[in-house]
Amino acid sequence: METILVDRFGRVHDYLRISVTDRCNLRCVYCMPEEGMEFEPDERILTFEEIAEVVGVLARLGVRKLRITGGEPLVRKHLEQLIAMLSAIPGIEDIALTTNGIFLAPRAERLRAAGVTRVNISLDSLRADRFAMITRGGDIRKVLASLEESVRVGFQPIKLNVVLMKGVNDDEIADFLAMTLERDLTVRFIEYMPIGHEDDGWRNKYVPLSAVMDVCAERGWTADASGEVYGNGPSRNYRIRGAAGSFGLIHPVSDHFCETCNRLRLTADGSIKPCLYWTDEFNVRKHMGDEQAMRELFFRALDIKPLNHEMAQVLALEAQSHTPTARRMSQIGG
Ligand code: SAM
Ligand code: SF4
Repeated sequence: METILVDRFGRVHDYLRISVTDRCNLRCVYCMPEEGMEFEPDERILTFEEIAEVVGVLARLGVRKLRITGGEPLVRKHLEQLIAMLSAIPGIEDIALTTNGIFLAPRAERLRAAGVTRVNISLDSLRADRFAMITRGGDIRKVLASLEESVRVGFQPIKLNVVLMKGVNDDEIADFLAMTLERDLTVRFIEYMPIGHEDDGWRNKYVPLSAVMDVCAERGWTADASGEVYGNGPSRNYRIRGAAGSFGLIHPVSDHFCETCNRLRLTADGSIKPCLYWTDEFNVRKHMGDEQAMRELFFRALDIKPLNHEMAQVLALEAQSHTPTARRMSQIGG
């Protein structure tokens, strides 16, 4: 089938990230405030049928890969049902899940059976007390159990997402890298992004990912650029010589990857976001049942998709060309 989701810059869009809820059982310091988050009322959240309808239309326009995210996707009841509905849509080849891992272990088997092929588990520290501090109360034992269960049920690849923050967890880079020596995992270091951050807390904690390569050099580890780990997206991948696993660097701030952007985002309240960073969004809810209108909406979204975000300008305190989103990361899905 002809792929037709191409934007003004020739970027082909075959990947949709679906946030199934804006709610979460944790309150990670870089993502949500401790208190005072306002959540969408249930009636504004897309139903499974509505999500499947949107995905059906996008699949007919060439979307092949889905990622289920949130908020925390596993707080959405009966998520397995949605996964099964999405895997039955002709053209959908791959369904990944991004989760904080707290609720994953008991549901991993069912999610796998429903059609999830691979998981990214967020884990910003290997130390129980620090993990609890970053997530404001999360129990690392549950996440580690989910990791083991993910291996057992056969998700492949399994990736750990680590957002690096200065003075918070940047002293654990070597520990995370050491994990890849022994285990067939991909640790993905992610630069802290200024999404929904009004104050300077972000700038003070931002760490450029060159720090990871510095740690490799200090330890005498040779990191070779490694081939494709399936579903890489914007990650640059490396393997320490002789290691069982690999690591990836996602550095949207110090070196953006927008020229290869292939993704659209669907928020839990039904908005298509052409770019994570900017404010523009297009709500599909009023077009349910009208495929032509929905297609036109997707093309409008693609038509205004800018060439790149401007997170580096935020770091440098420079003016920006458009308006950044007021949504928090939990309301977009990462
Ligand atoms: N709750 C799930 C989780 O934590 O994996 C899925 C949603 S979460 C918003 C998706 C990803 O975004 C997580 O890996 C999280 O670490 C990352 N994230 C959230 N806020 C971020 C920020 N300000 N900068 C960089 N990554 C962020
Ligand atoms: Fe929740 Fe994920 Fe945001 Fe943490 S990063 S608060 S787990 S949505």
